[in-house]
Amino acid sequence: MLLDGKNVAKEKMSGIKSEIDTIKDRYKINPVLRLLQVGNDSASTIYANSKIKRGRKLGIDVELEKFDTINQSAFVDHVKSINARNDINGIMIESPLPEGMNFYDAVNNISFYKDSDGMTAYNQGNLAMKNEMIAPATARAVVDILEYYKVEGKNACIINRSPVVGRPLAMLLLNRDYTVTVCHSKTSDLRAVCRENDVIIVAVGISGFLDSSYVTEESSVIDVGINYSGEKIYGDADFPSLEGTVKNITPVPGGVGIVTATDIFENFLNGLKYQLKNIK
Ligand code: NAP
Repeated sequence: MLLDGKNVAKEKMSGIKSEIDTIKDRYKINPVLRLLQVGNDSASTIYANSKIKRGRKLGIDVELEKFDTINQSAFVDHVKSINARNDINGIMIESPLPEGMNFYDAVNNISFYKDSDGMTAYNQGNLAMKNEMIAPATARAVVDILEYYKVEGKNACIINRSPVVGRPLAMLLLNRDYTVTVCHSKTSDLRAVCRENDVIIVAVGISGFLDSSYVTEESSVIDVGINYSGEKIYGDADFPSLEGTVKNITPVPGGVGIVTATDIFENFLNGLKYQLKNIK
């Protein structure tokens, strides 16, 4: 079965929009998400523009603030100053930052309830303590797809151990009673590990990496990879060879990516609700 992310995103967008409409009506506010981009990475610009469009559909003002260049300490000061503003409800630092800048040193100056990306140490720690109010959107998207399509099987292996994907995803899956194996470049006999699991989540950043030698007919493959070849995007799974073999697979594009783009706004909404309830 094709696990189409568009259906998942559509359902989530409508739920988020209705909550945002209610909040705007009740509190007479105009919610704002501020994106901070340093440099001119073209993929990062594409993602930022797609957030602006998605925000418009949801009634959220997404503002993009771009710096051609800025040093780390001036950038950190800027993050602190916009974080202090009551008229900005969520902040995202677009990655990658240029070489020489440190993403985590900057992001950790965002209050946890404005951290729409879920990348602060505070929110990663909260997630480890089973609090899912704000979680890295890509990890959330994988779980959303598994839940939406009621994918069977509670043994999962994740091929990725980064703070963006593998680590938070392991927490979300554990919270849902999965038995999780987290794999990486030093894992021995990765193919055998993958074949033993019901669900394989691949996020290595290598186009076509997961071929038929990693799967069985019972595998459900969730492909997180985004690899550019010119204008085209490919996943980490060798989709043409797996499509007819495995039980379930997500497409790229149209799979995890589109749900991730939506889940940023779920984080934003959860943080906004926290602000309205707790921050004066
Ligand atoms: P990353 O930090 O480079 O992590 C890559 C992971 O893959 C690492 O854990 C690495 O292992 C592992 N790996 C690399 N080569 C491997 C191999 N031959 N065998 C086994 N494991 C291997 O990248 P990331 O930021 O997590 O992103 C990963 C991918 O997801 C990229 O393609 C990125 O574009 C995509 N992504 C997609 C979304 C979305 O919304 N769909 C969002 C974010 C990222 P080590 O730890 O041992 O190095």
